[in-house]
Amino acid sequence: MTSYAFFQKKFVPLSEAKLGIMTNSLHYGTALFEGIRGNWNADQDEMYLFRLREHFERMHTGARLLKIVIPYSVDEMINLTIELMRKNGLKEDTYVRPLAYKSTEQMGVRLHNLDADFFMFCMPWGRYLDTDSGRCCVSTWRRPSDNTIPPQIKATGLYLNNALAKTEAIENGFDEGIMLSPDGYVSEGSGENIFLVINGKLHTPAVHNSILVGITRDTVMKLAKEELGIETVERSIARGELYTAQECFLTGTAAHLTPIGEIDGRTLGDGQAGPITSQLKKLYFDTIQGRLPKYMDWCTPVYGKA
Ligand code: PMP
Repeated sequence: MTSYAFFQKKFVPLSEAKLGIMTNSLHYGTALFEGIRGNWNADQDEMYLFRLREHFERMHTGARLLKIVIPYSVDEMINLTIELMRKNGLKEDTYVRPLAYKSTEQMGVRLHNLDADFFMFCMPWGRYLDTDSGRCCVSTWRRPSDNTIPPQIKATGLYLNNALAKTEAIENGFDEGIMLSPDGYVSEGSGENIFLVINGKLHTPAVHNSILVGITRDTVMKLAKEELGIETVERSIARGELYTAQECFLTGTAAHLTPIGEIDGRTLGDGQAGPITSQLKKLYFDTIQGRLPKYMDWCTPVYGKA
């Protein structure tokens, strides 16, 4: 079956969506991306796109910083995503990749006076971190400070930092690397936010700890509070606390909610998902698969049969 992309303002076969080698963003990382999940619910024969609006709002926020004018409103992008998904007709867990980029074929390092465009494609994608009790290391690579490259936007150039951390972790036999902030506090994984469970409460790095403010992070904080009555403390977390927490998990659109069993050779709890992590994980998957009526506002059905 042909896969389709939305490219240069129309839907085309994915194999025809090609860019020239002089495209500015290829050279200087001057693009902005999002990762969005389509979650397949086999019982309902339906695909649910999760928190579409928040993803496109974050993209528009980042675009202001990079001086990219996205030629579509948030509502138009939502409708384009639904259309893209229908055209591709997938019936399994899917990942949608929108990208707004400096599309001009002009060379020169800058952000101003460069034409921009927007494309989007989708692909089947199951588990990103293939584990239920991940092994992490603290990365030797640190997140950049806001005055280096603002880490709260998903700029492609910024992700060299993440790639360095991920490859170091994998090549050293771990599932993921946890980066510290420039001032040495816990920041985040290469593609995930991090949560610790300490004495029955959730603790997660604050916005000022060089994190991407994750949509999954927000989802989990709301589910913890609403469904389990558990508050989340957003604060600077010291590295040592990673080793003494009772439970730990990572959150992200691709990684969903992944329990962490070990950090730098220290086992957390019994090394398996702890009780709070397990409850949250179940709530999270029920939510994204459109099984909880209370949270259906976050789920956009693609095929409309449900
Ligand atoms: N941090 C980084 C560095 C990421 O790339 C991601 C994935 N987008 C996250 C955190 C999690 O963000 P979200 O839950 O919005 O996907």
